[in-house]
Amino acid sequence: MSDIFPVVVGIDFDAEAIWTGRQPELANRPVLLSHGTFAVREGLAPLLALLAEHHIRATFFIPGATADRHPEAVRAIHKAGHEIGSHGHAHRPVHTLNAEEEKKELVGGIDSIERVTGSRTRIWRSPSWEWSARTLDYLLAEGIKISTNFHDTIRPYRHMRDGKPVDLVELPVQWHLADAPYFMYGGQIGRVIHASAEVERIWMEEFEAMYDWPGTFFHLTLHVQLIGHPGRLAMLNRLLHRMRARPRTRFFGSAELAATIA
Ligand SMILES: [Zn+2]
Repeated sequence: MSDIFPVVVGIDFDAEAIWTGRQPELANRPVLLSHGTFAVREGLAPLLALLAEHHIRATFFIPGATADRHPEAVRAIHKAGHEIGSHGHAHRPVHTLNAEEEKKELVGGIDSIERVTGSRTRIWRSPSWEWSARTLDYLLAEGIKISTNFHDTIRPYRHMRDGKPVDLVELPVQWHLADAPYFMYGGQIGRVIHASAEVERIWMEEFEAMYDWPGTFFHLTLHVQLIGHPGRLAMLNRLLHRMRARPRTRFFGSAELAATIA
């Protein structure tokens, strides 16, 4: 692997669930929800086209509620050959749930994806990247093999329980390598939307430095509703060209990279 620098593209396809998961009463705000609907109506098709152009197999993380509401969109992602991971059911942050709710969110999310794609996913990303003290046991019980939630390293690793490695690989993520901190905006006063060029600079700066750190990998996190706007997609296109221009860059699906971890 030392002659390769892995890049993984993880994409959250939240749609409306990003708003209603945290606050169910937001279901009464159709204009706010329409920020999420944008992912389905506009963002997804050009993003899939861009990934195809670059021959990238990405991992899409989809809440069960979104799969129930937009099965055609999920089928399009699946048909394009991308990995599909679960992203909870109603997009409720795990650390706010009791034991029963956490189990229901996990199993319900996996079930909904299975109804649409016909297969049981083994990849999971928590809404808001949170775990509880119960999460590890629940994931192992449900046959999840890959988690993409922790921020503790920039290298893939195997989770441990009682001092022993378990059948769950972590592909760590970083907030500064995600689009949400720069582009997420729901009308909140004081929140700043960043220029795509600035985000490109931050991501490339990190990519170039990580490229020379052996054993690390670059894990990009995107949201269809945020990145799927024309100017931002143009930036993503430039970014992917620049990454691919480096000779050791290789794009991995999450399962493919996790399979390299002993
Ligand atoms: Zn999400």
